[in-house]
Amino acid sequence: MSEQATAPHQSAVTVIGLGPMGRALAGAFLDAGVRTTVWNRTPGRGRELVARGAVAAATAEEAVAASELTVVCVVNYDASDDVLRRDEVTTALKGRTLLNLSADAPARARDTGDWAAAHGIRYLDGAIMTPTTTIGTPASVFLYSGPADLHQEHRPVLDALNGTHTHLGEEIGRAAAYDIALLDLFWTAMAGFTHALALAKAEGVSARELAPYAQGIGAILPPLFAESAEEVDEGTYSGEGNPLTSAVSTMAHVVHTSESHGIDASLMRAAEGIARRAIGLGHGADGLTRMAEVLGRR
Ligand code: NDP
Repeated sequence: MSEQATAPHQSAVTVIGLGPMGRALAGAFLDAGVRTTVWNRTPGRGRELVARGAVAAATAEEAVAASELTVVCVVNYDASDDVLRRDEVTTALKGRTLLNLSADAPARARDTGDWAAAHGIRYLDGAIMTPTTTIGTPASVFLYSGPADLHQEHRPVLDALNGTHTHLGEEIGRAAAYDIALLDLFWTAMAGFTHALALAKAEGVSARELAPYAQGIGAILPPLFAESAEEVDEGTYSGEGNPLTSAVSTMAHVVHTSESHGIDASLMRAAEGIARRAIGLGHGADGLTRMAEVLGRR
């Protein structure tokens, strides 16, 4: 065990998990001059970081003991449980701060909050909203939830990552709640985009030819998101200009054209199905935002 790995230090951090994101986080801490201890389940992933000055701990408990703040960034909370809920690691974490930046369902963050409280571990949950290439730059976006004073206490170290750091509230599942909703948006949007590329190709339009027009669609979304958010929170669901009856007809065109080319149309079929359900419930004159209300009905 190295001396550096055992002495807690004010401007020090431990990073557990050295996948692409964990390595990016550790690299940004090192670049900012924060003493960084690293550990990963599979040894060797931190070699480059060690060459840049990181301390490689021999065990997870040694890694945790090296810093007041441990940042965990692994594939999901099953993986973080595998590492953290071993007696030696849990004991080493007692009285220290744990920040879990792995992505998972909000319920897992809440469960981890309960476990941390039961073991005297100071716990913050968080989510990273931007890709590895942004880490250490102003373009990175981090969301946090948990005790506000704990977040404040560790801001000096977290700020070393650069970017935007937003504390969303004390309820421990809140960062994961934002994350899951935004992942829903991102993956369905990207799935829609990949489907559009396949459909365009079947019609003889290359991805490069379509791309500028796809970017045009992307550009109309931000104001639409803002307007739709108002409607959903106000419960107005205005269909003026584009009622569900009209929207569903264009969705059906996508389904039929896809299937005429033998392309799986289940993505658009799902959206069309929800729209038709809303129409069946008497909301055909409303706008697309009515679908959010219908989906939320129990
Ligand atoms: P992965 O999601 O592939 O996570 C890889 C890391 O998880 C490795 O350190 C791996 O260890 C570890 N791991 C997996 N299973 C276990 C286990 N059972 N026990 C211990 N460690 C385990 O890659 P990323 O680093 O990219 O992502 C980490 C987190 O960051 C994820 O939750 C991801 O959703 C989130 N994120 C990633 C972004 C990105 O652009 N990559 C963007 C925003 C968020 P080993 O090397 O031993 O396999």
